[in-house]
Amino acid sequence: MSKLHSPGIIARWHGEFTSASTESAFLRDQSGVIEHELTRSLSFCGISYLAFALADVAHLGYGSQTLALFVARLATAVVALTGIVLTRRSANPGHTAYRAATAFTSLAMLTFLLVAYLRGELLLHGMSMAIMLIIVYLFIPNRLVNATIIALSASASFLALVYASGTVSPRQMSTMTMLLLLANLFGAAAARRDAYSSRRQYWAQQILINQSVRDPLTGAFNRRHLNAGLLEREIDHARREGASLTIILCDLDNFKAINDTHGHQAGDTLLQDFASLLLSMTRDGIDTVVRYGGEEFLLILPDTNLADGHALAERMRARLAEAGSLHGHVRIGATASFGVVSARLSSYLPGIASQAMIAHADELMYAAKRSGRNRVHVTEFETPSAA
Ligand code: GH3
Ligand code: MG
Ligand code: MG
Repeated sequence: MSKLHSPGIIARWHGEFTSASTESAFLRDQSGVIEHELTRSLSFCGISYLAFALADVAHLGYGSQTLALFVARLATAVVALTGIVLTRRSANPGHTAYRAATAFTSLAMLTFLLVAYLRGELLLHGMSMAIMLIIVYLFIPNRLVNATIIALSASASFLALVYASGTVSPRQMSTMTMLLLLANLFGAAAARRDAYSSRRQYWAQQILINQSVRDPLTGAFNRRHLNAGLLEREIDHARREGASLTIILCDLDNFKAINDTHGHQAGDTLLQDFASLLLSMTRDGIDTVVRYGGEEFLLILPDTNLADGHALAERMRARLAEAGSLHGHVRIGATASFGVVSARLSSYLPGIASQAMIAHADELMYAAKRSGRNRVHVTEFETPSAA
C-alpha cells in the first residue's frame, strides 16, 4: 500500500493525523493545553485517590488490608505527581503527557480493582467503575488507543472479579456488563469526536496561516512573512551560533518586455517557473524564498558562506538562462540578475543588519543589471569596526 498521505488526513476511528509529522506538529502546538489539562486532571485524581483511603478505614478498619490499599493509593498519587513534573520539564510535553496519562490510568485501574477485591460491595463499585471509565476516556488527556486498551482491560478484569466472587445474581451481572459496555462505548465515541474535531480545527488554522504567508501565484513566502521578523530571526540565530548567513536578491531581466511580447499570462508562467527553480534548488525547511516584489525574489540561506552562496546563485542563473520557461508550446528565453551578500554578524543589531544587508544586495543586483544583466555580483558584508 502507498505510504504517501496528504498531511491533513485524520484517521476516522482514532481521530489522529495519519501523517506522523503532522501529528507531532499538532502535539507541539497543543502542548500548553495538554500540559494544563494533565496537571489539572492528575492533581484531582491523585488527591481523590488519597482521600478515599478514609473510606478504606471506614470499611476495613485499621489493618494489613487497609495498609496495602494505602500503599497502592500512595503509589498512584506519586505516579500522578511524577507524571506532572516530567511533563512540565519535558522538551516534548505532548508526548510525555500521554505517557504519564497511560502510566497513571493503568496503575489507578489496578488500584481500583484491588479496592473492589478487598472491600467487596461490587454493585456499588461497578457504578464507580463506570464513572472512572468516563474519566479515563475524557478527563485525562491521552491517545484514544491507549485509553481504550486500558478501559477495556479494566472493565473485563472487573467483570471477571465480580463473576469469580459469586456474590451477584446473573441478572445483576448482565446489567453491570451492559453498564460498563455503554460507558466504554460512549466514552470512546465522545473521546474520538473530541480528538477529531480538535485536529480538524488545527488543520483549518494551518491552512489559513499558510495562505496568509504565501504568495498565491508562486508559492514563495510573501512580504508579510518577511516583515514579521524572518530575516531578523535568522540574523540573530547566525550571530548566536557564530555562523555565516547569506542572502540573495534576484530579479528577472527585461520582464516587462516579456509581458509585452508574450502576454501577461506568459509572464505569470515564467514567474512560477522561476520560483519553482529557486524553491527546488534551496534546502527544504532551512532556506527561505520570498517574493520580494513583482519579479524580484529574496533568498535567505542560513549557515552559508559567500563562496557557497555565490556558487548557488551562479547555478540558478545558468539553469534559468538554459531552461527559460515553456508557455503552451512557446519557449520563452529568460535571464535574471543576482546580488549575493554574505555576513558574519558579531556586533550588529538584527533590525539594522537586515535593512543594511537587503540594501546591499539590492545595490549589487542593480550593479549586475547595469553591467549587462544575466550575471551574479557578490560581496562580503562588512561589519563596521567599533568606534
Ligand atoms: P530589469 O531587467 O531592469 O529588471 O527590467 P524589467 O522589465 O524586468 O523591470 P521593470 O521594473 O521595468 O518591469 C517589471 C514588470 O513586472 C512590470 C510589471 O508589470 C511586471 N509584473 C509585476 N508583477 C507581475 C506579475 O505578477 N505577473 C506578471 N505577468 N507581470 C508582473
Ligand atoms: Mg526585472
Ligand atoms: Mg524588479
